[in-house]
Amino acid sequence: MNVDIIELSELKAKFVLSGVSPAFANALRRSMIIEVPSLAIDDVNIYENMSVLFDEVIALRLGLIPLKTDLNSYVLRSECKCDDGCPKCQVSLMLSVEGPKTVYSGDLQSSDPKVVPAEANIPIVKLKKDQKLVLEAIAILGKGKDHAKWQPAVACGYKNMPKIVISGCDGCGACVDVCPIGILELDKTVIVKDEAKCSLCRLCEKSCESGAIKINADSTSFVFSVEVDGSMLCIEAIIRAADEIKTKAKALTKSLSVLT
Ligand code: SF4
Ligand code: SF4
Ligand SMILES: [Zn+2]
Repeated sequence: MNVDIIELSELKAKFVLSGVSPAFANALRRSMIIEVPSLAIDDVNIYENMSVLFDEVIALRLGLIPLKTDLNSYVLRSECKCDDGCPKCQVSLMLSVEGPKTVYSGDLQSSDPKVVPAEANIPIVKLKKDQKLVLEAIAILGKGKDHAKWQPAVACGYKNMPKIVISGCDGCGACVDVCPIGILELDKTVIVKDEAKCSLCRLCEKSCESGAIKINADSTSFVFSVEVDGSMLCIEAIIRAADEIKTKAKALTKSLSVLT
């Protein structure tokens, strides 16, 4: 197995995973979406709500605010030793505001300075003069398989690594004109600028009357594109997804070992 990073920032990653089966590539994608835990608001005690929105709508909006998650500091409630919530499995965020103002995610005051909204400018509700909103929100760790609010990887997809083979090109340029991504260039014969960007649309193949360009897909190599919601670094989500697969594989091996 080999990993080549094409692009990596706090919120986005693009990499080529090669030497694996399609089943493993899909397992990694699924693990990123449903198995990587993150913190999200799950319980809201509303003490005063004079806004135009019902309590339930405010609670729903709060649940969808991505919260910075330190996976080393919190555990899933199901794995915690406490009975009904402790600082190891939950964090409290207070909101106490009075209009006129637009209430933003940044107005939430967290009991843990490390657990704050990933973006401070997510609007929650607009308050008119003298309207008040006072509540306590409880955030817990959860997984995307239970609710999308616990899904740090908001986008995760892959495609087979394209393989573009050129042989016997006469330099007519027809394929360069039809490529929607603009990765083909003419320099006497056609050259490929960035193979990984190819969308495998095969328009170039169809436009080439001499059959000089062939598009193939490598069945053991995959170009991944991942984007996270800011609750953690993109690289953290990818590594945790791989760790989750390892943990499950170990548990399966252990379960099967009793049969031998
Ligand atoms: S269409 Fe075919 S012959 Fe023309 S430049 Fe492209 S590969 Fe070469
Ligand atoms: S398959 Fe499509 S994207 Fe890829 S090189 Fe050909 S025209 Fe461009
Ligand atoms: Zn606990």
